[in-house]
Amino acid sequence: MSGPAPNILVLGFAGFLFGVSHSGKAQWTPPPSLQNVPVREDCGKTKGGIGISFQPTLFDPQGAIYLCPRRALEIDRAHPGASLFFRIHEYGHLALHTRNEALADTWAAEQLSHSVSGRATLDAVLSYFIHLGKRFALMYGTGYDRALTVAQSAQIPAQQWPPVLAAYERAINEKKDRNGAVQIRMHDQTADGLLWIDDQLVGFVSTEPSYHNPPVPDLSGQTHRLRLQDTWVYESGSPNKLVAAGIDASAPFQGGNSTGGLSIRLSYQPESLTISVSE
Ligand SMILES: [Zn+2]
Repeated sequence: MSGPAPNILVLGFAGFLFGVSHSGKAQWTPPPSLQNVPVREDCGKTKGGIGISFQPTLFDPQGAIYLCPRRALEIDRAHPGASLFFRIHEYGHLALHTRNEALADTWAAEQLSHSVSGRATLDAVLSYFIHLGKRFALMYGTGYDRALTVAQSAQIPAQQWPPVLAAYERAINEKKDRNGAVQIRMHDQTADGLLWIDDQLVGFVSTEPSYHNPPVPDLSGQTHRLRLQDTWVYESGSPNKLVAAGIDASAPFQGGNSTGGLSIRLSYQPESLTISVSE
């Protein structure tokens, strides 16, 4: 996206101690393309969250990351070492040019999956997310959702997962087997946003192929209402080129659950976003 598009991290950040382990060795450094990103401490900018990142602008051609040390300390007090994850998560938004929270989590988990100290950070953030449990945040899903993304992306062997996380994954898989997943397609452009069905929030959805869209909820009856909220539309092949932001679209559709999921088509003409369900 272009412009000062914020990626607000409501939950959580990683402190100024970052980068130095007990042995004095650096534990994580950003990839070369991100080493000049300015990192500033400003709890006002993060609006109570642990961190926020801004995509490149004329003023900040590398983008920028803001972190809240106070929030990082709070998180580390309960889950020692977890805050580092959130710092890396902010770099993930800049590396991938995306506001997608799950993809930033995926990127951070992969970054940390190659070292022993990284694995310690992952264990700490898993305990933090599992502690959040069913607590839900709009662009992130639940704590369990984030824990699952981290455990899967870091390829932590399933037998090492906390039992509650394994049970959560089973429940998600059962729902996917029963109802399929949301699929969202668009010609010539890409998009993401918050999907609602019958006034229930399904979750963040995206045309991005590497993103796992949520399972379709259990639908009762045959007539439903689809709504995509706060939709951002991008130029195809240029994830940082925002065509439109913050648009809503809704449409009724007929049908029930099927194992094939729900295929949603989007089309954007200037000022107007159209949504429909395709067979
Ligand atoms: Zn984020």
